[in-house]
Amino acid sequence: MSRYVMIADLNRCVGCQTCTASCKHTNATAPHVQWRKVLDLEVGEFPDVRRAFVPVGCQHCADPPCMHVCPSTATGQRKDGLVTIDYDLCIGCGYCMVACPYQARYKVVEPARAYTGLKRMIHELKREDPKRLKVAQKCTFCSDRIDYGLENGLTPGIDPDATPACANACIADALVFGDIEDPDSNVSQLLAENKWFRMHEELGTNPGFYYLWDGIDQEDKS
Ligand code: SF4
Ligand code: SF4
Repeated sequence: MSRYVMIADLNRCVGCQTCTASCKHTNATAPHVQWRKVLDLEVGEFPDVRRAFVPVGCQHCADPPCMHVCPSTATGQRKDGLVTIDYDLCIGCGYCMVACPYQARYKVVEPARAYTGLKRMIHELKREDPKRLKVAQKCTFCSDRIDYGLENGLTPGIDPDATPACANACIADALVFGDIEDPDSNVSQLLAENKWFRMHEELGTNPGFYYLWDGIDQEDKS
């Protein structure tokens, strides 16, 4: 069985947030919602410091705390590892938002658009989902694109039509998506050849989001 994961290469990310914009365009999320967010951090100790840009979002944990606390079974998990929310079952209690150690979930109560009082933008007209109001929402790993791709003989992470919009849009090839259960996949090879870490490994959530990072020593300090 497949398990789809995302890799963010922190050695390559330049913090442009094209991934964030692409996600918002694709999913028509509200202005204050960022399913794909990029943190701007300072790492190291003076004088050996540098900026690091860290894409974050739902980690599609293999053992997801959000699912365990959900009282309505709205949060679920697919066989391919994607953590899902059934908007029809969600009662908007927000337990999952508290339980998520990655602060990946949002709840929007009122319709919110890019230009208040003006016409909706084209992507809002086409892709805004009224079912997302008053319930939990988060990054889906663009599951609709994955499903479309699999139905049409495409490979998620390789064929753009079967790949999350953020990974397609990244100007630096910093975001890579694929099947970690396939030892020959793009993600398996990257993880075999590079140093990597996952966030909050100590919590045992087994996140499906990996970070490549050579550390501050890679910088030429001469
Ligand atoms: S990152 Fe948060 S919302 Fe996503 S699966 Fe893990 S616990 Fe759930
Ligand atoms: S688009 Fe790529 S380079 Fe730009 S912020 Fe996102 S991950 Fe980083």
